[in-house]
Amino acid sequence: MDPIVEQFMAKIQAKNPAEPEFHQAVHEVAESLIPFIEENPKYKHAKILERIAEPERILIFRIPWLDDKGEIQINRGFRIEMNSAIGPYKGGLRFHPTVNLGILKFLAFEQVFKNSLTTLPMGGGKGGSDFDPKGKSDNEVMRFCQSFMTELSRHIGPNTDVLAGDIGVGGREIGFLFGQYKRIRNEFTGVLTGKALEWGGSFIRPEATGYGAVYFAEEMLKTREDSLKGKTCLVSGSGNVAQFATEKINELGGKVVTFSDSTGFIYDPDGIDAAKLAWVMELKNNRRGRIKEYAEKYGCEYHEGERPWGIKGDAAFPSATENEINEKDAKKLINNGCTVICEGANMPSMPEAIEVYMEHKILYGPGKAANAGGVAISGLEMTQNSIRLPWTREEVDARLQQIMKNIHETCVKFGSEEEGYVNYVKGANIGGFVKVANAMLAQGAV
Ligand code: NDP
Repeated sequence: MDPIVEQFMAKIQAKNPAEPEFHQAVHEVAESLIPFIEENPKYKHAKILERIAEPERILIFRIPWLDDKGEIQINRGFRIEMNSAIGPYKGGLRFHPTVNLGILKFLAFEQVFKNSLTTLPMGGGKGGSDFDPKGKSDNEVMRFCQSFMTELSRHIGPNTDVLAGDIGVGGREIGFLFGQYKRIRNEFTGVLTGKALEWGGSFIRPEATGYGAVYFAEEMLKTREDSLKGKTCLVSGSGNVAQFATEKINELGGKVVTFSDSTGFIYDPDGIDAAKLAWVMELKNNRRGRIKEYAEKYGCEYHEGERPWGIKGDAAFPSATENEINEKDAKKLINNGCTVICEGANMPSMPEAIEVYMEHKILYGPGKAANAGGVAISGLEMTQNSIRLPWTREEVDARLQQIMKNIHETCVKFGSEEEGYVNYVKGANIGGFVKVANAMLAQGAV
């Protein structure tokens, strides 16, 4: 390891003990940025990287709520307000039993760079709770969301901190959270994105992360005069991002053969076509069932407790969660002929897997660039809320495509290396950093 990176990481680890995901995210960024900062000493003197790695504010709070038996349950809530140099804090909420401070700090840190890459005026934040919506009734989820918002409402606002969904937080949860905010604050504002169309939502927001990741993959493929048409694709997860990535891949003539959830994965060599996808959406978004049922319904393979990376495919769209591809998985993917890895999820590839991608010079789109479409359309939802005017589906989709193109161009600008190879990790990290760093320089020691 570069001794300056090593020194920097030693301080991060000492200051943020027992937060491995946060260390991992900062390390990846530091490796790209430190050489760049050494060449641009103004950032070094102003300690921009040290400041970016320190959240501006962290809120941790108790969430008491009543379950259906009338018993009190207690969860822990978090909001990490990471950086507001270029706009109000903006980022999703995750409700999952694995949520802890380190995971949310990693997500908030990534969000700062991602939001900057979109070119929209949004700072970075992330929040959530260790609450598990699985197995809870709609009423229990509502009471939990109301309690969560009762505390958080005093700290957020459309010009301060704007929330959205992430794992375990979809349309249902956004509705309950928004209702409680409106009731407490007595104002109808764009404090949450991912709202339904009837009450301030934007067309294409549910689709944006998955669609955006596929648009980004197409941009990467274009650099090699190729496209997704006719390609076999592996998708992990079966939630929001996985579903809409699959819809767009199908539209562009690719074939998706896998889906997963936290209990296993299905392999359908015939492809998950529009009808099967509609069935998965009903299963996951309404019935809230397990992906195993797909194998029973369509008579295909189900692999309990495994991930889909051993299946032969041309392109992979990890869209479940962090660290879901290890070194062995990466080697399997590449040995099976996979040449595109485009991350719908945040940090799904472990550092050793990324090294394998780099070594083989495949097209690798890291999450902070590839999945930025979601927050980009959230930014456009904020704009529509501010001007009190909704845009059409076509208009928003055209803007999404343009934004993904711009992000790709930024990655090429900052990530091009010898022989035309584009290091998208470096490109995204430096491209995302420069705008935030310049704003921080201009705003002084704040
Ligand atoms: P959803 O809750 O809709 O779906 C998550 C999917 O991933 C589910 O299939 C879930 O399975 C699976 N999953 C969750 N945790 C694990 C785990 N520990 N191991 C294996 N599988 C798991 O979330 P999203 O689709 O919104 O989010 C997926 C990823 O995309 C996350 O990394 C998120 O941070 C990222 N992302 C999401 C954005 C958005 O707009 N929604 C924007 C940018 C990034 P199960 O049903 O069993 O829990």
